[in-house]
Parts: sequence; structure tokens; C-alpha cells
Amino acid sequence: MNIHEYQAKELLAKFGVPVPAGFAAMSVEEAVAAAGKLPGPLWVVKSQIHAGGRGKGKFTELGPDAKGGVRLAHSIDEVRDHSAEMLGKTLVTVQTGPAGKQVQRLYITDGVDIAKEFYLALLVDRESGRIAIVASTEGGMNIEEVAHATPDKITTITVDPATGLMPHHGRSVAAALGLSGDLAKQCASVLAKLYDAFLGTDASQIEINPLAITEGGQLMVLDAKVGFDSNAMFRHKDLAELRDLSEEDAHEIEASKYDLAYIKLDGDIGCMVNGAGLAMATMDIIKLSGGEPANFLDVGGGASKEKVTAAFKIILSDPAVKGILVNIFGGIMRCDTIAEGIVAAAREVKLEDPLVVRLEGTNVDLGKKILSESGLPIVAADDLGDAANKIVAAVKQRVAA
Ligand code: GDP
Ligand code: MG
Repeated sequence: MNIHEYQAKELLAKFGVPVPAGFAAMSVEEAVAAAGKLPGPLWVVKSQIHAGGRGKGKFTELGPDAKGGVRLAHSIDEVRDHSAEMLGKTLVTVQTGPAGKQVQRLYITDGVDIAKEFYLALLVDRESGRIAIVASTEGGMNIEEVAHATPDKITTITVDPATGLMPHHGRSVAAALGLSGDLAKQCASVLAKLYDAFLGTDASQIEINPLAITEGGQLMVLDAKVGFDSNAMFRHKDLAELRDLSEEDAHEIEASKYDLAYIKLDGDIGCMVNGAGLAMATMDIIKLSGGEPANFLDVGGGASKEKVTAAFKIILSDPAVKGILVNIFGGIMRCDTIAEGIVAAAREVKLEDPLVVRLEGTNVDLGKKILSESGLPIVAADDLGDAANKIVAAVKQRVAA
């Protein structure tokens, strides 16, 4: 689960992390009122969307010469103008994809005079199974480019969970950023607070870019991207309230209501599978057969007919889907339950996509019987390879037609 920059900064401030003062605003009036509560003479008007690269982003409605999604303002009038121009518009950044995201909230912050910008992130490194600290002197707006062109300018340090964060980690990060004296001390202190925040909130990432040195010699977090481990949200009810559903994929929200594990992908073959491992294998074999999966969907071990129906409808409501592959191994899950769900859903929505079903396991014969007697144009498959070949061929034929 991801949150907005203003929420991330409010959260980090509770852990003692230095951030500029600021207020969220949903309207131009609120933005002006927020600016009035800040001292000036510099303000920053920041689009709040769940994506980075806002500074260099472009508003679809404003043309190529307009300013980006993060703007400096030297007067409250300028705050008003920028807010009026950005609110409600679609911001396209390197991270949003070409469709962009609508700006529904702004963050008005105290403007800081920047002497230098760094990059500092904490994330879960799956390879080492540890929290990794990633630091670079090349902060600002081009970290993707830095990682690609000059990876030596990025330092990664992992933290042993048995010891936790140690003073030497702070010294190493300060050295990597070329800091000494008081700034090195500030760096170690910020790092320790970020680490506390990471553990305390079950975060999956905290990315600070830029971590700035101000002209006054203070280290300050000017931008923060924070995401949490969704599996830990049950013990962070207060954080769950920060969720902004308008930032999430509508299908994924619908799926979460039914406790389905659904992730939208770029292809055109919808998949309904039980068990995450089988879902992975199914996606692999679709690709091996020359197709592209449209989603990952795990209906779980013991799904009800209602859950299967909901899953099927979610797949069908995705306009990119040109065919569906159902691959179920009935262990706890019974094949007849799956079959009933498919038939119910296919009757409710007019099924036009080719549908290939491979069932195996508990009550498989009953399941097959329900499908074949339904009168629906369902193609049965004998095994997974056969199923993948059949759906890929059917979708290719349909796309070509
Ligand atoms: P992003 O483009 O989505 O990463 O948004 P950021 O919040 O990082 O803002 C983009 C850039 O705006 C930063 O890299 C800074 O260079 C600049 N910026 C942000 N806040 C301030 C500020 O308070 N003062 C000044 N001078 N520049 C700022
Ligand atoms: Mg940034």
C-alpha cells in the first residue's frame, strides 16, 4: 500500500525526521489558506499523486511549455495561480505511464533554499533478506538515469536484523554522501529515525529524493515516497486510513473486497487460478506458448461460488482481456464449485471471449459435466500445456480477425 507525499512526511515527522512545514489542500481556497499559515517568502506547490517524477512531469491539458507538477511560488498569488492550474488536471510522469494521474490534492510547503540534493532510500532487499540502505550524492530528479548510467555513484549497505542499525551504518552513509562534521552527525540521526520509521510501520520502502542540505546547513527531507507491506496492515489500522482508493486500480480494489489476490498485467489473456505457485506457473506457460497474461489472479485454496463469480467478472471487466484461461487444481477447492462459479458469471455477463478450462482434482468429472451441460462455448483442456496452447491460439485468431 502506498501513500501520498504529505502523508509520508507527516508520518516521518512523528519519528523526528526533519521535514519542511506544509499543509495538504483539496481546493484553491485551501491552498491559499495553507500558504497564509506558512512564513514565506518561498512556497512549493506540489501535486499529490502516487508516482514520482512530478517535477519533470507534464500536464496533459496544459501543453508542452507549461510547468511541471512541483512548482516554486514567490507570493501567495502565485500559489493561487499554480493551484488553480494544477488541480483537476492529468499529470504524466515517467512513473505514471502515458495515461497519467489526475491531481486531486496539493501539498503546500515552506520553500527551502537548497545547497545540495542527495538520494537516500530504505527498502527490503529480497536477495539478502535484509533492509537495504541506498544512498547517492546524485539526488534530485534523475535517480533512474544515475542508476543506469553511473551505478558506481550509488552505495548500498544492508543491515543485519540481529544487530539492527549500528552507528557504523550512519558513518558509512555519511561518508558515501561526502559529509563530515555536523552534517555527518545529522545524517546518522536522520538515518536512525528513518530506520525506526521503517520498522515501526512495517514499511516496504522509504525513498527520500531529495534529501537536501539547506543553505542554512540543515539536512532536510524534501520529498518522501513511502509504501507499506500490505500483509502487515492488520496491525496498523491507523495507517490503513491513509489509503487513497482513487490512486489504485479499480479492479484490484474490487478484488480486495472478495479477498482475491489480483494484479493487473499488460497482456490480453485473463487467468483464473488457485494457488500463487500455480498462478505463476500458468503465467510462465502462457508466455512459453507465445501469449501474454493480462493478470495474476489467485482465488485461493477454498473459494466459494460467489468468490469465483466475482473473480470471473473482474477478469471480464478488463477491456484488454481477449481470452480467458481457467486453470484449477481441486484439492480443498472442489472442481464443481469452480464450474458453478464460471457458469454463473458467464451467464451474468455476456461471454464473448474464448474460454479454455483445465480442471483437475476433487470432483473433476462433476465439474466437467457442469461445464459441458451449460451450453456455454467452453474449450476443455487435458493438461496445462494443452490449455496454454489452446488459449494462445484462440486469442491470436481473435486478434487477427
Ligand atoms: P518529484 O519530481 O516527484 O520527485 O518531486 P520532488 O518533491 O522531489 O520535487 C522535485 C524537485 O523540486 C526537487 O528535486 C527539488 O529540486 C525541487 N524542490 C522541491 N522542494 C523544493 C524547495 O523547497 N525549494 C527548492 N528550491 N526546490 C524544491
Ligand atoms: Mg523527488
